[in-house]
Amino acid sequence: TRPSYQPGRHFLQLPGPTNTPLRVSEAIARPTIDHRGPEFQALGHEVLSRVRAMFKTEGPVIIYPSSGTGAWEAALVNALSPGDHILMYETGWFATLWSRLAARIGLVPELLPGDWRTPVDAAAIETRLREDRAHAIKAVCVVHNETSTGVTSDIASVRRAIDAAGHPALLMVDTVSSLAAADYRHDEWGADVAVCGSQKGLMLPPGLSFNAVSQKALRASESAGFVRSYWDWGEMLAFNRDGFFPYTPATNLLQGLKVAIDMLEEEGLDAVFARHERAGRATRAAVRHWGFEVQCIDASADSPVLTGVRMPEGHSADALRAAILERSNMSLGSGLGQLADKVFRIGHVGDFSDPATLGTIAAIEAAMRATGVPHRSGGTEAAIEVLAGEETPVPSTQ
Ligand code: PLP
Repeated sequence: TRPSYQPGRHFLQLPGPTNTPLRVSEAIARPTIDHRGPEFQALGHEVLSRVRAMFKTEGPVIIYPSSGTGAWEAALVNALSPGDHILMYETGWFATLWSRLAARIGLVPELLPGDWRTPVDAAAIETRLREDRAHAIKAVCVVHNETSTGVTSDIASVRRAIDAAGHPALLMVDTVSSLAAADYRHDEWGADVAVCGSQKGLMLPPGLSFNAVSQKALRASESAGFVRSYWDWGEMLAFNRDGFFPYTPATNLLQGLKVAIDMLEEEGLDAVFARHERAGRATRAAVRHWGFEVQCIDASADSPVLTGVRMPEGHSADALRAAILERSNMSLGSGLGQLADKVFRIGHVGDFSDPATLGTIAAIEAAMRATGVPHRSGGTEAAIEVLAGEETPVPSTQ
């Protein structure tokens, strides 16, 4: 059993929720304010306006007091109608969950099969859309960064596929684990609805979710047939115009969001993305040095957000994670769905720097040595080489 106090900072190396920086925690801890008063109005105007830069959109961003799953549902019920067909792509567990949610609410999702190791195949989407001459498919829904596997997909290529097929479907993108960690360009890439959550790149605790909405999606919502109330974009936007919300918003989390945006802008989004990329490269170098496989097998799709690590045959990922928690007070992500106990996930997302990356890798290696998981020692040194700028280029496939 774990002692009630484990010394040292807890290492929350999940691909979300991520470590909340003190500045953000302090902002959240400030007294709760009147959500109908002038102080909130100024805050509402500010965060609703400034959050758009995180999505790289000029259009509206809707903020819900919910987890990312709520924003998944919101995207679907606002822009679509019961019985609509939607095309999805099985990048992994989260794409699968989104398709199950869609089926449960009365949509007809078609999940193009994937191998959980490679990104969205835009050519397969184009082929399927070309077959759909009657335009029965109303939306294409893809996950930008598949958090269950550590594979990032090329969203611009999906837009090009839709356009090449001459298909009018909306493009919906799950950016829950990519936003403010991997570059996402809502307007430039022609996305119609982006879905996001607060607890990953945005460095907030769980509890806020987002829909960035294009003009085309807004128009679709005017004739969309789903019954909706709490998730309704229309009422939300009407209130947001004055800086307010139709119901009691998560005022304290919005105070934190303002500070998180300050911090991301102080660092600069490009520097934020580069920091994540670099930590990803260092982590993968360590994993490969150990002699383990990275779950992603397409080097062009390696995630800057997390690394999925495949355990050697006959060894339990969950047992290793438990040992690491007990020995080093560090949480790593579990394998999800078909990857349960076979894969563990190292998060390198949110508020972290080199010591966090190195400490994470070193603590994993120490636990492997202590518990007899076979590996080649020296993963930390391999990561140091990357962080010191001495890495040798990785071949395009492993
Ligand atoms: N989509 C992705 C890519 C995720 O990583 C997650 C959560 O990890 C979700 C959706 C669901 O978000 P939530 O758990 O906040 O409901």
